[in-house]
Amino acid sequence: MKTRIPIIAANWKMHKTASEAKLFVEKLIRELPEEVIAQIFIAPSFTAIHAAKAACVTSKIQVGAQNMHEADFGAYTGEVSATMLKEAGASFVILGHSERRRLFHETNAQIHQKLKTALKEGLLPILCIGETEEERSQGKTVEVLSSQLEACLKGIAPAEIALAYEPVWAIGTGKTATPEMAEETHLLCRECLEGLWNKKAAESTNIIYGGSVTPETAPLLFKQPNIDGALVGGASLHPEKFIEIIQGII
Ligand code: PEP
Repeated sequence: MKTRIPIIAANWKMHKTASEAKLFVEKLIRELPEEVIAQIFIAPSFTAIHAAKAACVTSKIQVGAQNMHEADFGAYTGEVSATMLKEAGASFVILGHSERRRLFHETNAQIHQKLKTALKEGLLPILCIGETEEERSQGKTVEVLSSQLEACLKGIAPAEIALAYEPVWAIGTGKTATPEMAEETHLLCRECLEGLWNKKAAESTNIIYGGSVTPETAPLLFKQPNIDGALVGGASLHPEKFIEIIQGII
């Protein structure tokens, strides 16, 4: 029996303007079944955070960001700080997404700094980790995930974070990990967390799965004892599909 309240998070990437985000959130609030026991998170673009938050102040839906800079402020043209995100209405931030690592060359050291800043500012970090197809086929999954976790969390005392296991080969490809494969890897992540922190902290941390989750694949993934929800990209752009995924948690 899980005691963690699952998280279903939408990562909209570079999609949806502020007015589109508002319409989406309004529809979600109207159509979300009341019996769903899950934390619903929406991560729009920076420019839509304020509008999305304003549209859901009366609901329990939380709005967050897809990235942030690690510094408190400074000469970092084009970047956004944790304080700015909080004032715009964010309560969480996705950190270390594989697209940030691959396309924007983010390193574990930088993600580590971002985590520290997010925690200091009271934003819930969703830390993303995952192996490539090549690393999995070479049997390096355990090594890769544990070294990402260690590098990102070293020196950080047990804290409220969520972990997103997102196999790189499953993001945006239509290839979802099987529930068994994902469960085995989530368990491994929880064991790593226990080693880095302690059993209590590991047991209370939500570990969510990301990688081509759909209304069809969600229910079986959510039944696994160590899968505490999902980080959803493509399917979260469509309110009907996102609601169906959320219903998979019931
Ligand atoms: C993601 O971007 O975090 C993600 C999981 O995307 P998708 O669901 O499209 O694979």
